[in-house]
Amino acid sequence: MSQHRLIYLDNNATTPCDPRVVDAMVPYFYEKHGNAASRSHQFGWEAEDAVDYAREQIAALLEVEDKEIIFTSGATESNNLALKGVFEMYARKGNHIITLETEHKAILDTCKHLEKAGAEITYLKVKEDGLVDLADLEAAIKPTTILVTVMWANNETGVIQPMREIAQICEKHGVLFHSDATQAVGKIPTHPREIGIHLMSFTAHKMYGPKGVGGLYVSRKNPRVKVTAQMDGGGHERGMRSGTLNVPGIVGFGKAAEIAKNEMQQDAERISRLRDKLQNALMQLEETKINGNVDSRMPHVTNISFKHVEGEGLMMTFNQHVAVSSGSACTSASLEPSYVLVAMGLGDDLAHSSIRFSLGRFTTEEDVDFAVKVVAEGVNHMRELSPIWEMYKDGVDLTKIEWSAH
Ligand SMILES: *Cc1c(COP(=O)(O)O)cnc(C)c1O
Repeated sequence: MSQHRLIYLDNNATTPCDPRVVDAMVPYFYEKHGNAASRSHQFGWEAEDAVDYAREQIAALLEVEDKEIIFTSGATESNNLALKGVFEMYARKGNHIITLETEHKAILDTCKHLEKAGAEITYLKVKEDGLVDLADLEAAIKPTTILVTVMWANNETGVIQPMREIAQICEKHGVLFHSDATQAVGKIPTHPREIGIHLMSFTAHKMYGPKGVGGLYVSRKNPRVKVTAQMDGGGHERGMRSGTLNVPGIVGFGKAAEIAKNEMQQDAERISRLRDKLQNALMQLEETKINGNVDSRMPHVTNISFKHVEGEGLMMTFNQHVAVSSGSACTSASLEPSYVLVAMGLGDDLAHSSIRFSLGRFTTEEDVDFAVKVVAEGVNHMRELSPIWEMYKDGVDLTKIEWSAH
């Protein structure tokens, strides 16, 4: 095993392209370089056919109609289009939107923007295991509520929300239901029509496709949902999203969807076995905690707190060997603990000591064995150096200590 081996366990940040995806894309950079909106020659027709085919591949994965897929530049844009588009389109019905504190920034920051435009937003707390409290959700609905937006699976913890139950509540109250399903699509079954989701965001680069291309599912019947376009232009994508289509990207997205449909189950089984192996080995270390509900969780993710160890520092001990994410986001000068973990009731210390491991299609058993070794070494090393760990080992009750403000 080479000393400089670098293992990628950060698949929730982005996934590598599947080689089959790249192979499908290549001709659309060269000989098939047409604009899908050019209606007067072979190049345009070829590009349009390729886009139509990709739309069918994605629709097949989601078990929806191909016309219900709008191509965008990624899940951030899809979330913006869904929330702003519904807010504007349904302004006469009301201005109230319900979401969770643990949503991705692409939802939360869009909500913040809408508040300035006159929206009322309810940010629901989650339970300690990261799941929404369904009674809280139902209680938050009022006559002015136009939309509930809840992510399918959380990017930091992998926790899967009870989509069917949420959809039933929305149905009962006649409220639209949007989901940021970016972390779920292509990895577990995500069938919005069957569940009762009316709009759903997703992106290619989290499912072994290329970066910079995403999709928004918009229900076309029962109910027929419309969103106001957020960009003015040529009226592409049924008037909801103007701009020349990213044909090679869309072709790759379609191929990624086809592969996911065929291989999802076997991938999930293999990857969850590796995830469990990694998790079980790391949980052998003292004072560790898994964050989030382990029974309703994506097959490839585990988020673990290593108590009394600072996650960002821990990561530095092994980031030449294993790439992961820590529960701290380095914003300006201060290390802020993950807002997702804080919303789940974790104290700053536990949130600060967390690491997210996200495996993927190309993760091997050797990768996991190697990662366990270097992460365990890192934790032990950090704890050897840590006065806090020494105090803990001496039996000092750390909860009774007053730390200076940070
Ligand atoms: C990655 C991610 C996004 C953003 O997707 P882009 O395609 O990079 O814009 C949005 N939501 C969730 C849950 C994500 O994990």
